[in-house]
Formats: sequence, C-alpha cells, structure tokens
Amino acid sequence: MPLAGRDYISIADLSDGEMLALFALADRFSRDMEARRASCQGKLLATLFYEPSTRTRLSFESAMLRLGGGVVSCPDAKTSSVAKGETIADTVRIVASYVDLIVIRNPLEGSARVAAEYANVPVINGGDGAHEHPTQTLLDLYTILREKGKLAGTRVALVGDLKHGRTAHSLAFGLARFGAQIACIAPKGLEMPDHVLGKLSHYFALKPEQYASLAELVPRPPASGRRKQLALGAEAMSLFDVIYVTRVQKERFRSEAEFAAVASSYQITAEALKKARPDALVMHPLPRVDELDYRIDADPRAAYFRQAAYGLPVRMALISVLLGAVRLRVSQKDKTGFRPPERQELDLGRYADLRCDNPRCVTALESYLRPVFEPVPRREGAVACSYCDHEQTLPTSAGGREQ
Ligand code: ASP
Repeated sequence: MPLAGRDYISIADLSDGEMLALFALADRFSRDMEARRASCQGKLLATLFYEPSTRTRLSFESAMLRLGGGVVSCPDAKTSSVAKGETIADTVRIVASYVDLIVIRNPLEGSARVAAEYANVPVINGGDGAHEHPTQTLLDLYTILREKGKLAGTRVALVGDLKHGRTAHSLAFGLARFGAQIACIAPKGLEMPDHVLGKLSHYFALKPEQYASLAELVPRPPASGRRKQLALGAEAMSLFDVIYVTRVQKERFRSEAEFAAVASSYQITAEALKKARPDALVMHPLPRVDELDYRIDADPRAAYFRQAAYGLPVRMALISVLLGAVRLRVSQKDKTGFRPPERQELDLGRYADLRCDNPRCVTALESYLRPVFEPVPRREGAVACSYCDHEQTLPTSAGGREQ
C-alpha cells in the first residue's frame, strides 16, 4: 500500500522496507536541500502542539517550508479552543478542512490515534504523552545508520527515564526490528514499561538486560542519601556502541516530591566518556537538563546536535511521501522485514463496558470515545488498549483469572 495519504502514529505503522527507503530519500535531501524546493507547493501543514516543543515543531515547519509548502500553527493549547473545552475529534475535523497534513502533540496517550481517526488528511504523531514519538525514532535510527553504518548487532544502552520517555519506547521497537541489542538502564521506578518489554520479547525474542545505573553515570552522591544504585561495573561505558540518554520527564510525575526523588540521579560526565569506546555515539532526543555534562559537547562522540539536525531531512522525506509528492521505492530485498500488523478489535462480550485503566489514556479523558481493546497474546486474561497500549487484566467476579 503506498504511503501517500497514510497516517504515522506509531513506529509500527511503517514497514522496515519503507523506513529504509525513507532514509535513502532523507540522504538525497541532506545532500541537496534545494532539490525539492517546489515539490509540496500549494500544500499546507498544520502543527497542533499542546505540549512544549522546539525541535519537533520547528523542524516539521522548516521541512514543509523547504519543500515549498506552507504552515499554519497552533503552538499553544492555551490560545486555542482546547482551552474552551473543545475535543481532539472536533479540533482535527476542523483543521483538516484547512490543511493537507497535521502534526499533533498532545499530553494524552493515544491522542494522535484519535486525531487520525477523525481527520480526513494524514496525521503524524509528534508525541502523545508518555506513549510514542515515532518521528524522533526515524531520526534516531537514521543517526545510527549514518554514523555507524548499520543497526544490526549495534549495542545500544537506553539510559534514563524509560518509564515516561516516549522516545525510548518507540526507539526500542525500531532497534529491535533491525536487530540491534538493547540494555535498559533506568533509576528504580523509571524502568521500561512492561507492555514495551512484553512486545520486544514476543515479537522480536529480545529481552533487554536491565540495570538501575551505569556506574559512571552516577558520580554524584544522592541529595537525600536514599538512592541506592546498582553498579553495572566500571567498564560499563565501553560495552556500548550507542549510549542513548533521556532526561527525567518532570511533567509526567504526579508530585514534585516523586520527581525530586529521582531528579539529577545520573549524568554522562567527561570522566565517564573517557571509558566509552572511541567510536561510540552519545545520543539524546533533547532537551537536556543535567544528564549530559556540557564538557562533553566538543567530543566527536557527542552526537546529539548532529542527531537533531538529521531531523530536518528525515521529516522532509516523511512529509513528501505522505503528501504523495515523492513515491517511495522499497527495494525487493527489504520487503521481507517487519510489516505493520493488522489491528484487531477484541469482542469483550460481557465486559463490553470495560474502560482503559490508564488515567492518562485519551479514552479516560475524552468521553465520546469508545474504548477498543486488543488481545495480549503472551498474557492470558489480559487486554491492551488500542489507543495507549496499556495492558490490564480482565476482571472476574471471583477476583481470579477469567477462563
Ligand atoms: N523532545 C523529546 C520528546 O518530546 C524528548 C524530551 O522531551 O525529553 O519526547
């Protein structure tokens, strides 16, 4: 199925072959930004950003302008009708009648899928709460391919707030699909969610090793004295080809106290980087807070600013194929990898009234939505919300497992 007109909500929405063809197109754009100056002329992009953003919004807007298209933007929920209580469904139906493509960022998990269901133009997920950020993954994978030449066998440490870090969720799937190895290094309580680990294991037979700290990442004594870090060993930095660091996602914590308990608990210092492989990459989706020492910026292994810059050609490639300005050619040999799975809707029978129990799920807050669940093949009696992927066990009258 051609990519033109499709939505891009999850990393699973593109096949491996499509992704590689997109990267080849991004290569062409990065060689000559002017080459496609007029390819999206007459087309309009809307950026609806209901959470802060610098890179994602501005690189999408800049990408569209460089393709000859135009941009309208609603960069702040407070100045849009959302502040008056307008739903996502109504907002995108209206905006879709003005533009040809929508990029949405919203704090509710699953919100981008709702936007895609209601808009009659393609929708791109620019980040839906703590759930996914699939275009960040495109540029993350592109960075590794450009700088290391391959993904298969690449050893990647995902470091930081893996519970709330949407970029880490999408990236874990992207890496697994292309045969990279993953280690998850997260402070206690911020570990990679079970639904991500479960899928990595079920679909890709990948069981990432998990650690509470990378010894060299935790040089500071914890302020409260309560944090006990599990040291991975002094040589830890040298074990990885890519060290992908994320910030603690302050905005996702329920209280200031919970955030304070984990804030500033890890940092890549100049001393730690000395232990890294000479050809390692330190990546970060940015913004950084204090988890990357400014002293490492000048080290060629610090790839995060180059990584952010790759976002432009990658997003130019994505926009131009979704708008049908360029047709992707997927090579025959790349047609065998991962393909987007059919979404299955579970008939819940007597549980037809079941609601998703994730309080940050879009279905919990936008009341017109009908919850949709899918089976969880590896967990008997469990279902996954089709919007936010959160898994829950079906209730039983006796409190046990449903047979
Ligand atoms: N910019 C990334 C995101 O929007 C990473 C971050 O905010 O920490 O998810």
